[in-house]
Amino acid sequence: MARLQSARLAGIAVLAGVLMLAGCGSGNPVSRATAGLSGAKERGRSGSRIVRGGGRRGAESAVATRTVPALIVPRGGPSKSVQVPVLTYHRVAPLSAVGITDLKVEPVNFAAELGALQAGGYHTVSQAQLFDALYKGAKLPAKPVIISVDDGYVDDIRTILPDLKRFHMLATFFVITGRMTAPGFLSARQIRQLDRAGMDVGDHTAHHVDLRLLTATELRSETAGSKRVLEGVLGHPVYSFAYPFGAYNDNVVAAVRAAGFTMAYSTAAGTTESTRAPLTMPRVHVGRAQTPSGIVSLLGGA
Ligand SMILES: [Zn+2]
Repeated sequence: MARLQSARLAGIAVLAGVLMLAGCGSGNPVSRATAGLSGAKERGRSGSRIVRGGGRRGAESAVATRTVPALIVPRGGPSKSVQVPVLTYHRVAPLSAVGITDLKVEPVNFAAELGALQAGGYHTVSQAQLFDALYKGAKLPAKPVIISVDDGYVDDIRTILPDLKRFHMLATFFVITGRMTAPGFLSARQIRQLDRAGMDVGDHTAHHVDLRLLTATELRSETAGSKRVLEGVLGHPVYSFAYPFGAYNDNVVAAVRAAGFTMAYSTAAGTTESTRAPLTMPRVHVGRAQTPSGIVSLLGGA
């Protein structure tokens, strides 16, 4: 039975692999954001991050383990919405790299986009900052924006992280835990590097499958199971999640909730994040054709 399920999941994973080449937003009719956005900008992540010694991974045992704030939704609070656009990138790589054209932003263009955001007075914020703004009334910086990067390509560590550091910006990286040994994808060590660099690392399932097609057991494995793996890699809890292809239904959302995620993102277009739908938050797709000035105007800037 377990073998059958495993074989079935493998089949779905192969299909998903094909779809992956088309990217997260593939097949989603509402994945392309266009207008009505508010601002954003870069800044350091909200405090409350404690670094303690420890580690349990051989040669890395001397590397400090990061402790992140607990993003646990309080009971009975008032509903609240904030304007925090969440940009979605995939690859930052030349056109010749593997993947669908629209999901590969040229490295030089990516750096220029970060520069345009900074020049426009935008501030990148962390998942904790968004959470605190939604549930604790915490103040966000002027023109807040979240940069999210899906799928865990090596671009994240080779190109995106150095650029983010150069601009003193943050991002959330949604990684696929079943691909940590696959060529071209982040290894567990590289995922930890992102985390230790102060970036948010969120879960993007184990096999990047359409979660709506799974049995209950498989769904648990792709949500709670993947979360467990990622938490083992990072050494701390993980609260954010992104749906592969932006695809979800009530069962999928229930599984994500049961797994303990409190911030989950779709590919539906929008820039308002709300406590009324914290597990189906919208994002803003950034494609290859986007320009630096186009991003600023997309976010409502001049
Ligand atoms: Zn994806």
